[in-house]
Amino acid sequence: MASSKHPPPPPIDRKAFFRLLSEWVSVSGRYGTKFALLLIDISRFHRVNHLHGYHIGDRILLKLEELLGTVRRPQDVLYRIGDNRFALVLKDIMNPGHAELAAQKIQRLLEMPFQSGDDPVPVSCTVGISLYPTHAHTAENLLRECEDVLNHARSTGEPVGISQREEEDEAVSELWDLEMELARALDKQQLQVFYQPQVSINSGAPIGAEALIRWVHPHRGMVRPDIFIPIAEKTGLIKPITNWLLNTVLRHSTKWTDRWGELSVSVNIPADFILRPYLKDFVANALQLWSNKRITLVLEIVERSLIEEPERCFKVLNDLRSMGIRISIDDFGTGYSTLSYFKFIPVDELKIDQSFINNLTADKANQSIVRLITALAHSFEMAVVAEGIEDANTLQYIRKIGVDIGQGYHLARPMPAEEFRNWLTGYQIDR
Ligand code: C2E
Ligand code: CA
Ligand code: CA
Repeated sequence: MASSKHPPPPPIDRKAFFRLLSEWVSVSGRYGTKFALLLIDISRFHRVNHLHGYHIGDRILLKLEELLGTVRRPQDVLYRIGDNRFALVLKDIMNPGHAELAAQKIQRLLEMPFQSGDDPVPVSCTVGISLYPTHAHTAENLLRECEDVLNHARSTGEPVGISQREEEDEAVSELWDLEMELARALDKQQLQVFYQPQVSINSGAPIGAEALIRWVHPHRGMVRPDIFIPIAEKTGLIKPITNWLLNTVLRHSTKWTDRWGELSVSVNIPADFILRPYLKDFVANALQLWSNKRITLVLEIVERSLIEEPERCFKVLNDLRSMGIRISIDDFGTGYSTLSYFKFIPVDELKIDQSFINNLTADKANQSIVRLITALAHSFEMAVVAEGIEDANTLQYIRKIGVDIGQGYHLARPMPAEEFRNWLTGYQIDR
């Protein structure tokens, strides 16, 4: 039994896992390698919690993680992705047999019962397997396929389910296409910027928008940024894309109404961009070209951009701020910030991650976190943005605790440039 008294760390969320999976798909596609995705469901785990208590459930989870770790080779990765679900990715494997062997090994390891005091607690699992690119060539299909075979195995009582799809040849070529097509997408004007309004919680007036990129593909339809931004980052295309983005949002914003006074436009900056020597030039050139006193450019960066070399990053951020730019920390609360940073961090705004906002009214712990982040931001004279506001109750709640700016489907969805321009002109404050 695991000796630790600590509860197991919370599972990684689905969106984050999906992002990683997309990255592995793009890397494997480029190098022509295969990998296997194994989803491991612990059977009747809720029953274990119910019969033996959560502390036993927690200890079993820790032990399971340890056992599963013994199947992993150094290049493989293991995540807990749900209360009773693990994902194991076996990299660079040769054939499905490899993955099946791993699944059998996992089954055998779990045959030994766990102990709760003197009582044995039997634990068993079901494993689903799908291979990239043999069974699917996108992260989405790979995950769906794996979930399907897992569910099927569970319903028939089989210990292991493995995908029977065949997609190999087509798969590899389609992935290559995606990369090549992305390279041409900029020239062909298939990339578009959508704008999602941001509203002052206090006055109800618009204060600006976040720019969100979209790839309108002639055959595939709208490709989501979660899919192609990782490819753009891997291939270096993110550099021209970000430069294009800065110029495009500043160009669009010259046409926005002056009805609401000064407005801001926020652009997402990839994690490793801060220390790139050209970032300042891109920003300075775009600002000069589209000079507009009524528009403030906001750069949204994620916390992890700062962890490697905080001092150097802080200097760059300060230089950018002296050009009149505001800095916002995106997805705040999910990263690595330590409180001592706050003494030095040259940041104007904290953007609370939507996972804390989405189910805010039902979740007391999230309410505490949001209140805490708001107080923290205000005591360092930073503004607070809540994104992912999906209903009126959430809006009301964040108003009560003093969040400054709101964004989310309840207020408005991301929309094309022209539509946002009209939205701004026609918007009525409703309170
Ligand atoms: P993000 O920066 O956290 O963007 C917020 C995402 O939440 C957007 O998804 C937005 O459409 C979505 N969203 C807004 N309100 C709500 C809501 O009320 N409920 C829910 N469930 N979702 C909401 P989107 O546009 O698909 O973007 C996903 C991610 O892709 C962004 O996350 C960002 O990391 C990246 N991305 C988007 N545009 C760009 C870009 O221009 N450059 C870079 N580097 N990354 C971008
Ligand atoms: Ca963002
Ligand atoms: Ca965000």
